[in-house]
Amino acid sequence: MFIAAIIGVAIGLYCLWLLVKTPRYTARHHRMSKGQCPNCTYDLRGSVGQADCPECGRAIPWERVVLPAD
Ligand SMILES: [Zn+2]
Repeated sequence: MFIAAIIGVAIGLYCLWLLVKTPRYTARHHRMSKGQCPNCTYDLRGSVGQADCPECGRAIPWERVVLPAD
């Protein structure tokens, strides 16, 4: 009975974590797929080669940023 309660709480916390984390991850991924900073949505097309975002100063994960072809 005690073990079932612990497992239930663990599963509940995991589901709560997924509910909080998934939309934020999806939003960040969507911004990077449009060539924007995942933190502040700054357009990174003019900042290729820079380590940090010129707008918010966060490190740019270039391996995950996809610059739109135009
Ligand atoms: Zn930024």
